[in-house]
Amino acid sequence: GLEIALACNQRIAVDGTRFGFPEVQIGLHPGLGGTARFTHLCDPIEAMSFMLTGKSIHDRQAKRMGLVDAVVPERHVEAAIAAAVRGDLDQAHQGLVGRIKDSAPARRLAARQMRAQAEHRAPSRHYPAPYALIDLWEEHGGDLDAMKQAEIASFARLMLTDAAQNLIRVFFLRQKLKDLAGKDAGIAQVHVIGAGAMGGDIAAWCAWKGLRTSLSDVSAEAIGAAVGRAAALYEKIAHGDRLKIRDALDRLIPDTAALGVTSADLVIEAAPEKAELKRKLYADAEPRMKPGAILATNTSSIPLKELREGLERPERLIGIHFFNPVSRLDLVEVVTHDGSDAKVAARARAFVGHIGKLPAAAGSAPGFIVNRVLTPYLAEALTLMDEGVPPEIIDKAATDFGMPVGPLELADQVGLDIGLAVAEMLKRELDWPIPDAPQWLRDKVKARELGKKTGKGIYVWKDGKAVKGHTAKRAAETSNMDLADRLILPMVNTAVAVLREGVTDDPEVIDAAMIFGTGFAPFRGGPIYYARQRGAGEIVSALNDLARRHGPRFEPDAGWSEGGWFEEDGPIAHETP
Ligand code: NAD
Repeated sequence: GLEIALACNQRIAVDGTRFGFPEVQIGLHPGLGGTARFTHLCDPIEAMSFMLTGKSIHDRQAKRMGLVDAVVPERHVEAAIAAAVRGDLDQAHQGLVGRIKDSAPARRLAARQMRAQAEHRAPSRHYPAPYALIDLWEEHGGDLDAMKQAEIASFARLMLTDAAQNLIRVFFLRQKLKDLAGKDAGIAQVHVIGAGAMGGDIAAWCAWKGLRTSLSDVSAEAIGAAVGRAAALYEKIAHGDRLKIRDALDRLIPDTAALGVTSADLVIEAAPEKAELKRKLYADAEPRMKPGAILATNTSSIPLKELREGLERPERLIGIHFFNPVSRLDLVEVVTHDGSDAKVAARARAFVGHIGKLPAAAGSAPGFIVNRVLTPYLAEALTLMDEGVPPEIIDKAATDFGMPVGPLELADQVGLDIGLAVAEMLKRELDWPIPDAPQWLRDKVKARELGKKTGKGIYVWKDGKAVKGHTAKRAAETSNMDLADRLILPMVNTAVAVLREGVTDDPEVIDAAMIFGTGFAPFRGGPIYYARQRGAGEIVSALNDLARRHGPRFEPDAGWSEGGWFEEDGPIAHETP
């Protein structure tokens, strides 16, 4: 649409319109002349920055940049068109500064800076699109026709890259989860029990998305802090829309007495991870809930069959498992147990879709999908550290593979206490041969060196960033495939186990869950898709090889040959290590 508008003489926008070229997020750049027209019409550096990030542009910003000539309320559109036809509507032009920025020497200089910035966000070896766009502008900016011509060839080249193909698939995965959400949750009012890290942020998000949300906690301070965090979040995401902030804050209701339980259509419990405490809270809440209301838990690790004990109506208990930080991670696991009511599950998925998140349906197996698949990756990173590999080198191996952050930095972000609790639960529940957590990790947790939230964990954290030691330099020089395989393949192997056990029966849901819940390298398409692309037989033999060298935790899961998921990849040679 924006490309068509750009091909017109003048542009009139209706109030509240948002513009953008999100192509880069699917491994492309605009391909209908947009790269040439946008940089020719506006300040080229600003235009490039929007195309390089895929960020959207708000109406006022678009007017200021000259992307549109007027922004008018809908009722004035016809008058604005008449003015344009009469020649009374001023036409935006690039202006002198823009033209200077579009000159060859200025382009060369700016292109160098753009490449350096892009390298941080999206390394060129994994994401070719931003660099193709920068090349295009550096070479042809300032010459509208030449740039339009060159854009066609560049676009066609990008279309054929693996990165674009995989990112386009991820785009459709997102769509698929959205479609699986379904409509009509019938939920207008939510009550959240527990205003801690998760509950507070879940409530803030629900209120932001238009739901009346009450929030209770034993500690009034916790509720106060949660409301403070909500205000700060809204400030960041409202783009200056004071009314929207005011309305969202109005919908978020501090509720020390938990009165909201009686009128809520959905009660979400996000109290500390203790089964007994959660059951006690349900015993208190359930009799006060409306007959059709849903009772949900945000538990990361307690099996629902343990939590449903003592409930009058266990069929309405469901897991709605958000990820931290709630405002940024789009995935929410909707967890059912063998006694779940299918209608409750459908409404829970629709609720998740209604608040703009992506539901992944999972059975109540330990760790559900995401934590289960992620844990052997984190555990292997700790084992490597125990073997004396510096953390920076371990993390670098994962980011070289395409992960947004390395496993150790991720463990610090999640919180070492939480990671340790999840790993111990999984080991216990699944009788799983993942390595034991090292003693030093337990000591750190005891000493409250928990990671980002306490300022120190595996790394020291300053201003929200992990301080990497001088070995980071050495890490930059090593690119060790064995390290990457040791980290990534246990995750892929576990994804196959999750499939075989039927936690979900859809390989695409696992891929989507890992991408949207943990940021698993999107251009790789998810763990199962990665296995397919590399070849299941090749992964199984790499796992066998790792098992021989490092122990039985790497043994290939039975799901590689059972179930028929990898049949197209040809027969898989299983061997006993
Ligand atoms: P938290 O300790 O930050 O918050 C828990 C809150 O519950 C605290 O504010 C506490 O005052 C309050 N609380 C304690 N007893 C209560 C009671 N009887 N009634 C009402 N409130 C009470 O914990 P969290 O990290 O927000 O975790 C909450 C739940 O979310 C847990 O089940 C956890 O497994 C799950 N979870 C956590 C994360 C994470 O990364 N932190 C991610 C996903 C799920």
